[in-house]
Amino acid sequence: MKYQPVIGLEVHVQLLTDTKIFCGCSTRFGAEPNSQTCPVCLGLPGALPVLNKKVVEFAIKAGLSTNCSITPRSIFARKNYFYPDLPKGYQISQFEDPICQRGWLDIKITTPDSISADSVKRIGITRIHMEEDAGKLVHGDFSGRDDGSGVDLNRACTPLLEVVSEPDLRSSDEAVVYLKQLHQIVTWLGICDGNMEEGSFRCDANVSVMPVGSSTLGTRAEIKNVNSFKFVKQAIEYEIQRQIDLIEDGGTVVQETRLFDPNSGKTRSMRSKEEAHDYRYFPDPDLVPLVINDQWIERVRQELPELPEQRQHRFMAELGLPPYDAEVLTASRALAEYFEAGVAAGGNAKAVGNWIMGEITRTLNDSGTSIEACPITPGELAELLKLIDNGTISGKIAKTVFDEMWKSGKTPQIIVEEQGLLQVSDSGAIEQIIDDIMAANTGQVEEYRGGKEKVFGFFVGQVMKASKGKANPAVVNELLLNKLKG
Ligand code: ADP
Ligand code: MG
Ligand code: ZN
Repeated sequence: MKYQPVIGLEVHVQLLTDTKIFCGCSTRFGAEPNSQTCPVCLGLPGALPVLNKKVVEFAIKAGLSTNCSITPRSIFARKNYFYPDLPKGYQISQFEDPICQRGWLDIKITTPDSISADSVKRIGITRIHMEEDAGKLVHGDFSGRDDGSGVDLNRACTPLLEVVSEPDLRSSDEAVVYLKQLHQIVTWLGICDGNMEEGSFRCDANVSVMPVGSSTLGTRAEIKNVNSFKFVKQAIEYEIQRQIDLIEDGGTVVQETRLFDPNSGKTRSMRSKEEAHDYRYFPDPDLVPLVINDQWIERVRQELPELPEQRQHRFMAELGLPPYDAEVLTASRALAEYFEAGVAAGGNAKAVGNWIMGEITRTLNDSGTSIEACPITPGELAELLKLIDNGTISGKIAKTVFDEMWKSGKTPQIIVEEQGLLQVSDSGAIEQIIDDIMAANTGQVEEYRGGKEKVFGFFVGQVMKASKGKANPAVVNELLLNKLKG
């Protein structure tokens, strides 16, 4: 029998607010354990939560950017469970009436041989809700002991959004594309730093299989806290195969929570899946309903940046970029902004794009630098391109100048002057070189004249070499043709 995998993702997005969701403590990562706590996030009796307005605005931004409706009156609920990293004995979350509902994301399905516009698939977003994170247990060597366990509550009460998708995804690849697009949106909005290693963006993957053609979903397993795109793909693929093997062997999939082990690439059972009623959700009496009126939504909408999708289309429509370039150059907001600044500084759009996708990306990758810290400014890149355009230097020499700009921080004009890299377009000087080379290679000249046109490339190479790459290739070609014809 053939099986159809079904996947739904629950993504936790840690919000980039300065302070926690229900108190004024700092959310900064990496501080001394428990140094960023207060009676509210320590869960001391009598302490009252106060909602951070910024969290609400970030949630609205996320909702508007994923086509959700914003709930006019949303409710905070207590999700009750016991664990030592949760001092209150409940997590403040949202259950009924979450802040955002019924949205979607159009994901781009790329088949190996095309990136066509018709391979777009709409993935439903069931809801986005706000909640607080729990603390963290620390085991082993800390506070001068080597065998202890302790709890660090710095992370307790850190604001999270949980973005829940419909079970619309049909393969591990679709799940990864969805996740990457969601990651791109929340980092683009500036509401999340997107750091997956530190857990700022992590996901639970719900996976089931059903016979192809069936309309009844199979029983799902939920794989907890997968924190890289690679692991999401691995975990889902392993889980699909595990469930198929189980069914083929006459077994049944049980609804459970599983853990992914990156070392073995396998998932293993953690606990049987809890149901909503196990948590005894009820409205938190300490927090009033959150009322969001249309003016507030509109104000937040005005603050939204142009999103990746829109910007991609504008790059194609206004700047004439091919779809592929537009997509690559909007991979992050910083990259898109760098590109636009280069164009605004007078660079030709296609050329600026090519240099960013080529030399800049390569050099950034080699040196482990992010575009935000690129030592060459967009304006300097545009200057370099102008030197190519107006014939001052050749495209080849430009690469040398680029490397030097990167290393020394000097402007391209200064580098060209200092190193004598001016392009030679003077036909007299180039003719002299060509004459010398022809005289030294009479055999090849005969071959060319005898009809072996391939030898032309040899001459071009020799002239460029003799001029140390500085001869203007167009002039070289023209003069060579004339002279070789004899
Ligand atoms: P819970 O919060 O208890 O995990 P939800 O009903 O909120 O349960 O569903 C969580 C996720 O599971 C959603 O992303 C949903 O799309 C996904 N899901 C639900 N049923 C299935 C299924 N049969 N197969 C795969 N994913 C599913
Ligand atoms: Mg869940
Ligand atoms: Zn606090």
